[in-house]
Amino acid sequence: MHERIEGWLRKARAITVLTGAGISTDSGIPDFRGPQGVWTQNPEAQRLFTLDAYLADPRVRQQAWLFRRDHPAWHARPNAGHYALVDLERAGKLLAIVTQNIDELHQRAGSSPDRVIELHGTIFWVECLSCWRRTPMRDVLARVEAGEPDPECLHCGGIQKAATISFGQALRPEVLEAAYQAARECDLFLAVGTSLQVQPAASLCQVAVDHGARLVVINAEPTPYDVIADAVIREPISAVLPKLVAVATGA
Ligand SMILES: [Zn+2]
Repeated sequence: MHERIEGWLRKARAITVLTGAGISTDSGIPDFRGPQGVWTQNPEAQRLFTLDAYLADPRVRQQAWLFRRDHPAWHARPNAGHYALVDLERAGKLLAIVTQNIDELHQRAGSSPDRVIELHGTIFWVECLSCWRRTPMRDVLARVEAGEPDPECLHCGGIQKAATISFGQALRPEVLEAAYQAARECDLFLAVGTSLQVQPAASLCQVAVDHGARLVVINAEPTPYDVIADAVIREPISAVLPKLVAVATGA
C-alpha cells in the first residue's frame, strides 16, 4: 500500500465509509452494474424496481415479491470487508457507514445500527405506500407463500413494497441529511465497492472533499469520482479493507 494512504489512515480521527454492492459480492449478493450484475444480465429486471411500473402493474408486484423471497440476503453472511468496518468502529475511528446496500450485512457483522445510514432502505421491512405502516418482510412473505400473490396492507388495504428506494422514489430527507452530515464532518472518506453512478449517493464524495476530507475510492471499475480522489485502489475489497483498517487502528 502507498505510504501516503497509510499516513492518512493513521492520522484520521473520523472516517466515513460509503459502501455499495461491491462490498457484498463476496457474500454472494450480485451487484447491479458490474459484468455479472443484475441489470447487465437482465435489463428487464429494472422494471421491478421502478415505482411507476410497480404501482401500475400487479404482475410487476407479483414478480417483485418472488424476487424478495428469493433474494440472497436471506442467507448471506458478512465477509471480511464488513467485519473490518466493525473493527474500525471499535477503535473509535468510524464516524458512519453510509450504505447503498439493502442487505443489512453491516449490522449483522456487528456494526452499531445507529452508525449505519441505509440510504436505500432495507429489504427486511415492508412499507405500505398509502399509510406507511411497516411490517417485517418475513411476515408478508409468509402470506405470499400461503397463496396471496400481492399482499395488501392489513391496516388500510394499500399497495405494499419493500422498504427500499425504487427508481422514481425520493430518498428519505432525514436519512439523506444524516449522510451529508457524515460526509461533511469526516476527515477521511472511503468510497468502497460503489460505481458512484447513482445520485445523490455519489455526490457525498464531492461534499466530503469540499469540506476538507481526503477521498479514497476502492472499486474494481473506474468511477466518475476517481478524478477528484486523493487515491484510487483497485484491489478486491474483502482483501484490501482489512489491511486499510489494520493500518488505521494500528493493529
Ligand atoms: Zn396501509
